[in-house]
Amino acid sequence: EVRVRFAPSPTGYLHIGGLRTALYDYLFAKQNGGKYILRIEDTDRSRYVEGAIENLIESLMWAGVEHDEGVFIENGKLVQKGEYGPYIQSERLDIYKKYVDELIEKGHAYYCFCSKERLDKVRENQKKKGLIPKYDGYCRNISIEEAKKRIEAGEKYTVRLKLPTNKDITFTDLIRGKITINTKDIDDQVLLKSDGFPTYHLAVVVDDHLMKITHIVRGEEWLPSTPKHVYLYEAFGWEQPVYVHLPTVLNKDKKKLSKRHGDVSVGDFRKKGYLPEALVNYLALVGWSPESNKEIFSMDELIKEFSFDRVSNTGGVFDQGKLNWINGQYIRKSTVDRITKLAIPHLIEAGYITEEDVENRYEWIKTMVSTVQESLSYVAEIVDKVDIYFKDEIDLSDEKVRKVLSGEQVPQLLEAFKEELNNIEEIDDEFAKKVFKNIQKKTKIRGKSLYMPIRAMLTGQLHGPEMGDILKVLGKQNILNRIEYVKE
Ligand code: GLU
Repeated sequence: EVRVRFAPSPTGYLHIGGLRTALYDYLFAKQNGGKYILRIEDTDRSRYVEGAIENLIESLMWAGVEHDEGVFIENGKLVQKGEYGPYIQSERLDIYKKYVDELIEKGHAYYCFCSKERLDKVRENQKKKGLIPKYDGYCRNISIEEAKKRIEAGEKYTVRLKLPTNKDITFTDLIRGKITINTKDIDDQVLLKSDGFPTYHLAVVVDDHLMKITHIVRGEEWLPSTPKHVYLYEAFGWEQPVYVHLPTVLNKDKKKLSKRHGDVSVGDFRKKGYLPEALVNYLALVGWSPESNKEIFSMDELIKEFSFDRVSNTGGVFDQGKLNWINGQYIRKSTVDRITKLAIPHLIEAGYITEEDVENRYEWIKTMVSTVQESLSYVAEIVDKVDIYFKDEIDLSDEKVRKVLSGEQVPQLLEAFKEELNNIEEIDDEFAKKVFKNIQKKTKIRGKSLYMPIRAMLTGQLHGPEMGDILKVLGKQNILNRIEYVKE
């Protein structure tokens, strides 16, 4: 059975690169009828952020990348489900302790008593000599008996991996092929820290083994660590998993996508009004290329077509424009209701509508949203698109707009329009449907000469939403004001 895991550290928010890793885990598990597990790697206490676990899970659930096993939120509380728990590493300390002891017994690990000052000095000296800093093995040959005595006497210690000297470690990565590294280029990694917590390297190996993980899917930044993990599996006598290292998500300049260059957290995209299906669809394509040149994929289609064979090993560039295009496609296919609900917080924040409007004039808001839905790349953009409905002074400076409004028949047209408006209380569907026919009958002005000046006067643009909808959204008084404004 295929078993994969996503193993984030709760250090803040879910990076979109992390969401992509989780997504590939999910797709691969579903495709193979396997299980996808969410494990929380919180052994680095100095980087722990309160609330980060909840935030990670909420972001994953929002994206529809749902796990089968591990840590969940139920009724606002963290719960764990599955046979191989606990799935939060800080709750597994006794397990790691046991395996560290086993390594020491077998001679694959040793106690280290070096102080931070000493380690710093060693590192400094190596750097000065132009060497890659590495532990110098000072404590490698302290006997277990002596070490235990020193520990009993209260000395602080860590436990380090005892790598054989000058041994090739070889493993196969599904995306990168065969990789060999010699132990002379690898550090005697700390496995157990002086605070009693394991390091990532020990915890990840023990957990992946105990949780029966078959494929380890993670970012390529972990590739240099993998030989240490491979050696640990060997030292324990465990069967190796399959390794899959994914290309880093890069920005346009081919640098690692980071907060400094704009949005990187899933929450940022959610807030701006990217739809989860669209974000997932786009992220799948960052690094993976489908066999056809199709670009719009539902989750089910992704499950069918995804494969690690077609994941590149050179990095995936995050293209905001492409994401916007895909998101726009999904927005267009969505119901007006859905987009309206997403738009409301943005419209309130912009001061265009109030909570009362939401209660009393929901249909009006919906009509307004419907007039611009087609043109949105993400929902937050609505604020700029609907400003034509809220401005007191429409910008009529565009040359083409001015030309349209300076037409000979325009004064007559506006007069007729005003008359129609003065005959009613407020604009309804009926009026919106008939008003242009009525004006045409009265003035004999028709087609473009009829619609264009009215559109230009009302919006300052020559293209845009359906005229009838514009009238309904603006309402009688706004339109009368605009007629006066254009006359001046
Ligand atoms: N906790 C690691 C991270 O935050 C997981 C790496 C792995 O998947 O092995 O990225």
